[in-house]
Amino acid sequence: MDFDQRFAIGLIAWIALLGVTLLACVAAFATPNLGAARIVALVLAAATLAGLWRHVTRTNRTLAHFLEALKFGDTAVQFDGHGGAGFGELADSLNEVLGRFRAGQDRAAGELRYLDALIDDIPVAVLTVSAEDQVVLANKAARRLFKGEQGTRPEDFAHYGATFARRLASGTPGEELLILNLGGRPQRVLVSSATLDRLGQRTRALGLQPIQGTLDAVEMAAQTDLVRVLTHEILNSLTPVTSLAATAADLLADPDLVADPRIGDARAAVTTLARRAQGLGNFIEAYREVARMPQIKRQLFAAGPWTGELARLFAAEAPSVPLDLEIMPESLGIDADPDLLAQVLINLMHNAAQAMGSMETPRLALRLLKTREGIAIEVQDNGPGVPEQLRQDVFLPFFTTRATGTGVGLNLARQIVVAHGGSIDVTDAPDGGALFRIVL
Ligand code: ADP
Repeated sequence: MDFDQRFAIGLIAWIALLGVTLLACVAAFATPNLGAARIVALVLAAATLAGLWRHVTRTNRTLAHFLEALKFGDTAVQFDGHGGAGFGELADSLNEVLGRFRAGQDRAAGELRYLDALIDDIPVAVLTVSAEDQVVLANKAARRLFKGEQGTRPEDFAHYGATFARRLASGTPGEELLILNLGGRPQRVLVSSATLDRLGQRTRALGLQPIQGTLDAVEMAAQTDLVRVLTHEILNSLTPVTSLAATAADLLADPDLVADPRIGDARAAVTTLARRAQGLGNFIEAYREVARMPQIKRQLFAAGPWTGELARLFAAEAPSVPLDLEIMPESLGIDADPDLLAQVLINLMHNAAQAMGSMETPRLALRLLKTREGIAIEVQDNGPGVPEQLRQDVFLPFFTTRATGTGVGLNLARQIVVAHGGSIDVTDAPDGGALFRIVL
């Protein structure tokens, strides 16, 4: 028996019962002296009428209850076909619609979770600025880039760069290269912005990609390519000159020719030429070192013993220069190529010792610190320092201010640091002198 039949049978039963109770009422009222029976008949008729009413309105009540639940977002509710006796098909249809609605809602929630995770994990830092100028660091990359930043207004970000703060406050959608002060050094960052509509409110989204590391690596690669090509070409031309000059010098040394006074001059000239050519050849050969990109073999090693060894090497080279060592925390571990990194520090310490050559009280500090940006390695001396206008140039290949310098040391140091994905800069030490800072 389906629900429609049950409803109809129920209806007939209730109507029949009502008929019976009404007849009982009529009979009770028509018969004299039946006061109590009249009351009972009336009560029974009223109760039957109420039952009939309940039976007829049950579907409406179930439907109202169902819609009420939906209104308050309870999509888990099921339409009860039993409660609405006789309306089984309606129940089936409503439950099907509701099922589809629930599936759509689950899909949308899943999609939203996926998009949330995608935005949170993409390697581009994303910031949003609301119509009320509220800045939000919208993903992990942004929180990493502006680690510890508490500011929520564009002007709070002015310490990273005035132009950047202005771009946060306003700015047309597009892309531009800005220099931001990140991790204590100026870094080039590609900033793209777009305007979005969020629930009827204008919101701006900014994507930030620090590209200093990439630019450094590209610059290094271009430099090494140039050096490789130049040294190759020059050596090709110089090799025959060297060998011909040497042959000519040997020929001119022939005892039969020695008697001629002009031969002496010629021999001296050719010998000088041979020596210079040989010298130049050696010089260029040395420069070729710059073009050999070192192969990085990373490993995790303890900073303490490694630094101790560097200190011993330095003490042997410059016994008169006291070295202050600081490692924070003492158990610091470094993930890098220990040999190449040692080469970098030996270069920096050697340079410092040279720069402090004429000082009465030279002092050198070597610090290895765990910082927010990574591991910072600082080499600080109290020599004359590096003039501001030369701070970029000193890292160029062959740049030197020393009569006997080659200008290779700092360039190699930079190559090694950049190959580790790090950065190296020089600034003024607080009490004068040079402060070289590597961040890995
Ligand atoms: P080189 O030592 O052969 O000159 P480097 O590449 O090691 O080559 O150094 C390049 C230049 O950087 C030096 O000639 C010097 O002018 C400057 N420099 C390096 N270290 C220091 C320092 N600690 N203090 C002052 N100047 C320095």
